[in-house]
Amino acid sequence: MTPLEQLVDAFAAGVYVLFGFVQLDLWRRRPAERGHLWVAVTAVGALAVDLTGMVHRAAGADTWAALLVANSLGVAVASAALLELAAWLARLRVGRLGRALQGAALLAALAAALGPPWLVATPLVAALLLAGAGARAARSVVAGEPGARTFARGFLFLVLCLVLDVLQELSLLPALYGLPLLGFVVLFLASAKSLADRQEREREELAGLRRDLEERVEARTAELSAANRQLDEVSRTDWLTGLPNRRGFLAAAEAEERRSRRSGRPFSIALADLDHFKEVNDAHGHAVGDAVLQAVCATVRAAVREQDVVARWGGEELILLLPETTAEGAFAAAEAVRRAVAGSPVEVDGESVELRISLGVAEHRPDRTLDATIAAADHALYRAKETGRDRVVAG
Ligand code: GH3
Ligand code: MG
Ligand code: MG
Repeated sequence: MTPLEQLVDAFAAGVYVLFGFVQLDLWRRRPAERGHLWVAVTAVGALAVDLTGMVHRAAGADTWAALLVANSLGVAVASAALLELAAWLARLRVGRLGRALQGAALLAALAAALGPPWLVATPLVAALLLAGAGARAARSVVAGEPGARTFARGFLFLVLCLVLDVLQELSLLPALYGLPLLGFVVLFLASAKSLADRQEREREELAGLRRDLEERVEARTAELSAANRQLDEVSRTDWLTGLPNRRGFLAAAEAEERRSRRSGRPFSIALADLDHFKEVNDAHGHAVGDAVLQAVCATVRAAVREQDVVARWGGEELILLLPETTAEGAFAAAEAVRRAVAGSPVEVDGESVELRISLGVAEHRPDRTLDATIAAADHALYRAKETGRDRVVAG
């Protein structure tokens, strides 16, 4: 045994221990990444083979029998772990045959104690395990598993080194020392790269999924808020006339009241009720009454300023919000509405229906509530009805 050979053996032991610890540590940090565990176990097996060989060469031929079981166990453990590693990287299962071979390898290693005829059992089963690992590595390359190619190349290189090692042990080749070490170092480096590639890919996949999810949540949220806005709009709109309903009007009036309180500028409210509208219904039917109501609403809407709010208060009653308008201005606006309605007969069934409207107006006072102003306009409307209809009364 030359000093160089001793150095190679010692160096190999150091390499196996180092790789074993590093991979074990990686596995401890991420237990789901079982590939690291299998690299570590492979390193332990290689270490056992290396150490027993080293002791045997240093102590002489007569120690070999005592070391055989430990040496065979190293071979069995390393080949069993390589099958696990190859299957894990290929995302394949070890299978029942693989499990049986792993068990057989351990039994064969123990049987090495029985003597020469049993010594070949471990290398035979180990060769079958390596063939299984090779088959899985090849299948993952064919299946296009990214990273599998690196591992498969490393594995092929290890097998080549082991075969050459056996051939030189059998003196079929000139002595080439340190072949298993070279094979295992290349395999460990290839495994480390494959495992890192796989983690990187999984991280990217996860990030892609997260992005996808975030985009979908964003789109869904946008849809929901659009639907909510639509729902809100619908809940504030009267379906027959398209005008704001009582709820829509009150929201606008409350906002106007707040604005007026801040700025000190006036606003007024007018309530309008069609005169004798029941007669239209009685004469032409409810459906025609509806159409007439729609036409009158359009007339009223067109008779006031754009910033004025015209809403359906209920039945054939309308309510108007007149921003920046005093009682006098409101009276004039209501008078314009009254004249517009009186001057716009609605054509129904070839017949022209004449309509009149009564209005009550009230200017909002800062010391009054909005409800009180509406009540004042209502009271004025009542008086307009009482005093003959088709007129405007200021409250
Ligand atoms: P006046 O206001 O001048 O006292 O008499 P009016 O006949 O208009 O009486 P009032 O305002 O009390 O009655 C409202 C009528 O308006 C009763 C109902 O038949 C009719 N009306 C209310 N809402 C609708 C509606 O949506 N469609 C139709 N077609 N008619 C309605
Ligand atoms: Mg009426
Ligand atoms: Mg009415």
